[in-house]
Amino acid sequence: MRTAVLSLAIASLLPVVSVAAPKNIIYMIGDGMGPSYVAAYRYYQHNPADATVANTVYDDLLTGMASTYPDDETLVTDSAAAATALATGIKSFNGAIAVNRQHIPIGTMMQLAKRLGKANGIVASSQVNHATPAAFLAHSSSRRNMNDIADMYLDYRINGKPVADLIFGGGTDYFVRDDRNLVQGFTELGYQYTDDYRQLSTLTRLPAMALLAESGLPAVLNSDNDGMLAPLTEKALQLLSPAKQGFVLMVEGSQIDWCGHDNDIACAMAEMNDFAKAISVARAYVDANPDTLLIVTADHETGGLSLGAHGVYQWRPDVIKKVKATGREIVKQLQQLQDPQQISERYTALTGITLEQAQLQLLLSALQNTDDKVARSQVLRFISDASFTGWTSGGHTAADVQVMAYGKNADEFKGFMDNTSIAKKLIRYIQHAQ
Ligand code: MG
Ligand code: ZN
Repeated sequence: MRTAVLSLAIASLLPVVSVAAPKNIIYMIGDGMGPSYVAAYRYYQHNPADATVANTVYDDLLTGMASTYPDDETLVTDSAAAATALATGIKSFNGAIAVNRQHIPIGTMMQLAKRLGKANGIVASSQVNHATPAAFLAHSSSRRNMNDIADMYLDYRINGKPVADLIFGGGTDYFVRDDRNLVQGFTELGYQYTDDYRQLSTLTRLPAMALLAESGLPAVLNSDNDGMLAPLTEKALQLLSPAKQGFVLMVEGSQIDWCGHDNDIACAMAEMNDFAKAISVARAYVDANPDTLLIVTADHETGGLSLGAHGVYQWRPDVIKKVKATGREIVKQLQQLQDPQQISERYTALTGITLEQAQLQLLLSALQNTDDKVARSQVLRFISDASFTGWTSGGHTAADVQVMAYGKNADEFKGFMDNTSIAKKLIRYIQHAQ
């Protein structure tokens, strides 16, 4: 597991880039953020009092589209295979964390950056060892080996040091375990560390680590304050910016996908908003530091989201804006109530939707089910139906995803491309930016 040379060898066979390479790369991945999510977010942001629908930051930065298929016959990728493609330039099988079809480790752009003396880091709203960030920093035949992947963040060394100079997200469950305390290992190597979001300012230099939840960060829709992704991105850029040879930063809006799996449109829009604000932070950084390239894309689409459903020519973001909690949180609150009247009132308080008697009966019977998933999908179906939001799947789809680029070399990401070509270009820039 110490051979991280495959993509280096492949990248060196590619023609040298004709344009000067950016010094810094900010690579942002919206997990599950298919094209209809980007459109949905635009209408969700739209003020009906305005005559026209304004662009979002996603629209402003759009340059192209990418295919996402994995290295098998399915065409539908999971996040691990897609992240492997986006981090190494090589497609693999679903579940693969930076290993190829033969399960041989493939060098990642973060490992290359580290080898060449550039700083690098990852920010995620999932646990930091979840599939997407994992494919930038570790190797495994399965994304499910989450403790092994966490171990590798500390144990896989380049020039005697762990790959990542900066690790922000959730995941204390995996990094502070009974069998091993990886946080202690990192602090012994000189990493500044906090597990408290309010103490983020105590991180003053690299290397640095912040694990701010047991697994994923709290769902934005359920939080009193806004999401953490933009402040974490700002902090990461502040710490990486002094790096003399530049940096590579990967920021993941991890939970857009989780909302998509639940078919939870209000949850998805809140996560999209968190991610949009992080992108705006990155865009401002590029404006101030023009020697930087910002790339935004998605690993795949989740849920088969459609804006309009059941043959009705209408989509109702106004319904979605009234929803105050995720389906998971709504179910949790309803399960604590016994009285049907109270359940109905709480549902209305949390969603803005008044249930008819027949709907309340459906909800009450779903709440009796021992599987929370049954109640959750009922709770969310009323929201989808009221807003004319359609879903075709609880999993991923093979829809193409948008590519957005801004700053130095942004022109290189125009038109249609495969997801691997994004990584191949970035790897070449890392090799040539000296
Ligand atoms: Mg992910
Ligand atoms: Zn997913």
